[in-house]
Amino acid sequence: MNYYSLNKQSPIADFRQATIDGQAPDGGLYFPEKIPQHSAQWIKDLNKYSRAEIAFKVISSFTGNTIPEDILWSIVNETIDFPIPLIKVDKGIYILELFHGPTLAFKDVGARFMSRCLGYFAKEKSEKITVLVATSGDTGGAVASGFHNVDGVNVVILYPSGKVSTVQEKQLTTFGGNIQALEVKGNFDDCQKMVKEAFRDKELKEKIFLTSANSINVARWLPQQFYYFFALQQWKQKEAPVFSVPSGNFGNICAGIMAWKTGLPVKHFIAACNRNDVVSDYLHTGIYQPKTAVPTISNAMDVGNPSNFSRILELFHNNTDQLKDIFSSYTTSDDRTREVILDVYQNDDYLLDPHGAVGYDALLNWLSMNPNDSGIVLETAHPIKFLDTVEPLIQEQIEIPENIRNTMSKQKESILIGNNYEALRSFLLGN
Ligand SMILES: *Cc1c(COP(=O)(O)O)cnc(C)c1O
Repeated sequence: MNYYSLNKQSPIADFRQATIDGQAPDGGLYFPEKIPQHSAQWIKDLNKYSRAEIAFKVISSFTGNTIPEDILWSIVNETIDFPIPLIKVDKGIYILELFHGPTLAFKDVGARFMSRCLGYFAKEKSEKITVLVATSGDTGGAVASGFHNVDGVNVVILYPSGKVSTVQEKQLTTFGGNIQALEVKGNFDDCQKMVKEAFRDKELKEKIFLTSANSINVARWLPQQFYYFFALQQWKQKEAPVFSVPSGNFGNICAGIMAWKTGLPVKHFIAACNRNDVVSDYLHTGIYQPKTAVPTISNAMDVGNPSNFSRILELFHNNTDQLKDIFSSYTTSDDRTREVILDVYQNDDYLLDPHGAVGYDALLNWLSMNPNDSGIVLETAHPIKFLDTVEPLIQEQIEIPENIRNTMSKQKESILIGNNYEALRSFLLGN
């Protein structure tokens, strides 16, 4: 499989090159040249295969011949080394729990897959690779955990000071070793802009071998298709499900649409957004207008210029009408998010995190108009990661899982820097 840049100004790359580059040299996102097709029979038989067999089949057409089969097999096995159960919560409403990985958020899957691929590719390189990543909350922890102690790779994480939860901050500042955390005096979009600028800086890139671990990296983006296959593997209804996906940078939902394009039956995708809803505006007006991110209680979705939306448009050859047939978006306020958490806890005895609650609300809205449908909410994080929000609402203490208790007892180590590219550049050069 080859990948081209969405900016169309860079040479074609294979999976290895696309993973190492992160972003194409022309600043565009890499996109696969072909969309693989799964046979209808294989899809029908999903429940006869193990999760590892499914994941291997899904991803191997994207990795091509860049990773030997036996190595890819062990990478896939380590990537999905935890359960991903589908749970019925109410009539027509199911939840796919993606938070059973080491950092209790769905990003563990992409980060674990990418770190192991990059670790394999780094063995063939003599230089050290520096992974540079901006996080709105969960990416940092998942990347830190995935890459900790991977030989030949250093990780530098930028996060917005004061805008991530207590648990999130601990998860990205307490690993030490090959992981460094930069606390930026600004918001997530500042962090993302600084990272993008570093990738454009030719002089810097001659001195340091840089790559990204944001969902723009194909090795983080593409394995997220697994969730949708695992959901269908457990799906017992006749009709295909509606997926409601809490969305920020739109990597997760874009992987879902890719899975659908390869043959997975899906009725509809809802991008569930908080107040940061540029995509809703786009669907209504046809004009894509990035905005400054505003802080919300579902902070991992506080993104004002979602990187992966360009990939979604590419999947539909920029045909917005075709896109709207399968894809819509819904916006939920913080107040409504709190209300949903409390309602679902009291009525269905299920505790959502704020991101999952935004997804839940979007599905409720869909079902109110399409009462015969059934849908799946992707629960992208464990509620404990947002205990500052969730506990006061339900007025109960949530039990803290043991790995989080260990992390919470460690000392935060971060370096405070300004929200300008020069600050990042001089840090990287002095490193
Ligand atoms: C990152 C994140 C999201 C948003 O996912 P995208 O792929 O960026 O759209 C949603 N929920 C949680 C908990 C996250 O960490």
